[in-house]
Amino acid sequence: MDEKLEPIFDEVLRRNPGEPEFHQAVREVLLSLGPVVAKHPEFAERKIIERICEPERQIIFRVPWIDDTGQVRINRGFRVEFNSALGPYKGGLRFHPSVNLGIVKFLGFEQIFKNALTELPIGGAKGGSDFDPKGRSRDEVMRFCQSFMTELYRHLGEYTDVPAGDIGVGTREIGYLFGQYKRITNRYESGVLTGKGIEWGGALVRTEATGYGAVFFLREMLKARGDDIADRTCLVSGSGNVALYAIEKIHQLGGRVVACSDSAGVVHDPKGIDLELLKQVKEVERGRIADYAGRRGHDATYLAGGNIWDIPCDVALPCATQNELTGRDAATLVGNGCIAVSEGANMPTTPEGVDVLLDAGIAYGPGKAANAGGVATSALEMQQNASRDRWSFEATEARLAEIMTHIHDLCFATAEEYGAPGNYVTGANIAGFQRVAHAMVALGLV
Ligand code: NDP
Repeated sequence: MDEKLEPIFDEVLRRNPGEPEFHQAVREVLLSLGPVVAKHPEFAERKIIERICEPERQIIFRVPWIDDTGQVRINRGFRVEFNSALGPYKGGLRFHPSVNLGIVKFLGFEQIFKNALTELPIGGAKGGSDFDPKGRSRDEVMRFCQSFMTELYRHLGEYTDVPAGDIGVGTREIGYLFGQYKRITNRYESGVLTGKGIEWGGALVRTEATGYGAVFFLREMLKARGDDIADRTCLVSGSGNVALYAIEKIHQLGGRVVACSDSAGVVHDPKGIDLELLKQVKEVERGRIADYAGRRGHDATYLAGGNIWDIPCDVALPCATQNELTGRDAATLVGNGCIAVSEGANMPTTPEGVDVLLDAGIAYGPGKAANAGGVATSALEMQQNASRDRWSFEATEARLAEIMTHIHDLCFATAEEYGAPGNYVTGANIAGFQRVAHAMVALGLV
């Protein structure tokens, strides 16, 4: 790390104890910023990096609710409004038992730069709760969402803060959250949440956007190397929203996804995942991939507790969660001849894993660039809400593809400019940071 940035990082560690994921996310960005600080003395003078590492506002609240047996339950809710230099706070809500302040801060910090890369007018935020939706009935999920929004609504607004989904929060949960917001405020303010259902203000392609976008980014990385996705064998970890639509787009482009996963295991399906069956199990029945493997029959093998990265592939898309791809996994991928990794999830590769992929010289698209298609399409949903309009699937997908190509080219060109050709980590961090930093200088000390 640049010697001017080391004391800033030490201060982040001192002021934010016990938040390893947040430290990891900050360190990864600061490692790239040495040359930028050297070129722009005004950033140091205005303490831009110190300010960017400190959220503008952090909200933590109690979420009481009643389960189906009549018992009182208490969860903790979070919203970290990290940076609004470029637009209203924007970022998803995650419902998962692992959620704590450090996780929300890492996600919010990443979101600042990701949103900047889209070049759309959105700031960075993230939120969620340690509520575990697994095994909960529809009515329990609804009561939880209503209680969560009963506190959160006062902090939201289409010009203030606009949440979306993330792990454990899909269209159903956004519906319950939006319904409660509408009831409390007596306003049909469509632009206050994104990821809404198509019938009530949602945008076509938002459901598909993160997965499709990660594949578009992959396509651009391969194109830059004179290669493409057709006939490539691919691994996609996870089997949630991002994973399903990454699989769909890879299949549409002629690649073959031979494995996916969840937190319990891996399904290896060498003939290629049957996406219709997988969607039926996951989206309609809310089942597990073990059910998919059972129904797929002898074509597919279910490996309880297995490691997806041990399966040989040409291309890997981590689309489950943070730190799911370790240094050892990266070495296995490289050893098996993998040529590209495009991250649908946020920070899924550990720092050791990133070093292995970069040292091997394979095409590596970090999440803050590769998965920006989700938030970009959320911004398109906000545009449609603001203009009371609805765009076609084709037009919206074309816009998404154009945005992902632009993000790719911006990261690629920035990496070249700063002497790190082909390094999308450097390119994404510097390009995203510069946009926010210039805006912060312009807006004064606020
Ligand atoms: P979903 O809840 O739809 O799916 C999450 C998937 O990841 C599930 O298959 C889940 O398995 C698996 N998973 C979650 N936590 C773990 C864990 N600790 N260990 C192993 N597997 C796990 O979430 P999304 O698809 O929306 O999100 C996936 C990733 O993509 C996250 O990192 C998210 O932040 C990121 N992302 C999502 C965006 C979006 O638009 N949805 C936008 C940008 C990034 P199981 O069911 O067993 O828990």
